[in-house]
Amino acid sequence: MGVVTQTGIAGLTLGGGLGWLRRKYGLSCDSLISVDLVTAAGEVVTAGTEHDQDLLWAVRGGGGNFGVVTSFEFRAYPVGPDVYFAQVLHAGADARAVLRSYGEWAVTAPDEISSFAILWHAPEIEEIPAEHHGTPIVVFVAMHSGDAARGEAELRPLRDIGSPIADLSGVQPYLDVQRFFDEDYPAHTMRYYWKSRYLTGLPDELIDMLVKRNEISPSPHCTLDVWQLGGMLSRPGARDTAFGDRSAPFLLGIEANWESPRDDEACVEWARGVYAALAPFSTGAEYLNFPGAYEEHDRMMRTTFGDNLDRLAALKRQYDPDNLFRLNQNVRPD
Ligand SMILES: Cc1cc2nc3c(=O)[nH]c(=O)nc-3n(C[C@H](O)[C@H](O)[C@H](O)COP(=O)(O)OP(=O)(O)OC[C@H]3O[C@@H](n4cnc5c(N)ncnc54)[C@H](O)[C@@H]3O)c2cc1C
Repeated sequence: MGVVTQTGIAGLTLGGGLGWLRRKYGLSCDSLISVDLVTAAGEVVTAGTEHDQDLLWAVRGGGGNFGVVTSFEFRAYPVGPDVYFAQVLHAGADARAVLRSYGEWAVTAPDEISSFAILWHAPEIEEIPAEHHGTPIVVFVAMHSGDAARGEAELRPLRDIGSPIADLSGVQPYLDVQRFFDEDYPAHTMRYYWKSRYLTGLPDELIDMLVKRNEISPSPHCTLDVWQLGGMLSRPGARDTAFGDRSAPFLLGIEANWESPRDDEACVEWARGVYAALAPFSTGAEYLNFPGAYEEHDRMMRTTFGDNLDRLAALKRQYDPDNLFRLNQNVRPD
């Protein structure tokens, strides 16, 4: 699953799938064992580890290009019921120092931990001291998917970074962690525009840029999310699944989130500005489930899929030669 419970499992898995278990068990599509799929010709195909393996390879990251998936079979894992969940908030004045420490910690953390460093503006909630309300902050959120006591010990180094303005960490039901972000993404009442880029690292120049861009974000709901990658997610080779290269240690999610249509232009422009400024720090690839408005479509497909794009195009010619399924991150058959 992703980290917001209402997100559809279908599109999420077909595009990869990043959740709280990503560093322990990989992408959602890595746990996909088989799919039933209706092809453009109206045929029902079951693709799995024994039949139509090429098609299973393609739907592990290649999106909705090959047909309508009517059934997903996943490998499942025991988690919880309780897990240790860290939530640590830092003042904007400390942002550069704590992000530098986070970057050093994140690349050595155990696979059970999946975390984010989020640049944001403090909401007006009682857990955060009033003098910080509405000001830029950095929030670390991290889940340890193993035994809760071990989780507490292994998340201690993250909580020991700097001098937090609030530390709300503790043992929680896994299902509550899974719902943690839900209230930040109400359907229908907010407006969203998201892009992303995989990062080669978290150098000081990048941290400086992110801190400055967060300070000028046009809505207090906008965030810049450093997704910790690595662990099991990074172990399959670039050609093992359609998803492509997995070597980046971080993904930077650019989230323009806002309330009024009056702010559409400013928020989209802010996100595009961050996206452009990230170029020197990026692998070139991006997460295709956060595609903005597909503006960079052709370049994004080539840099993200790399050589896999040619194999995907060959399968597209086989399963959907007329490009019936094209309203997506489109693999063209020609
Ligand atoms: C609030 C929110 C939070 C998110 N959080 C995360 C996250 O934590 N991790 C993450 O990895 N992503 C996340 N995403 C991105 C998410 O992965 C994509 O938006 C994804 O497309 C959602 O899947 P869906 O089934 O709702 O897709 P839809 O919006 O219904 O469809 C998107 C595309 O997916 C394909 N598709 C969908 N269903 C099928 C099907 N049955 N057969 C074939 N093709 C299909 C089609 O190409 C379709 O155009 C989030 C998105 C939102 C809005």
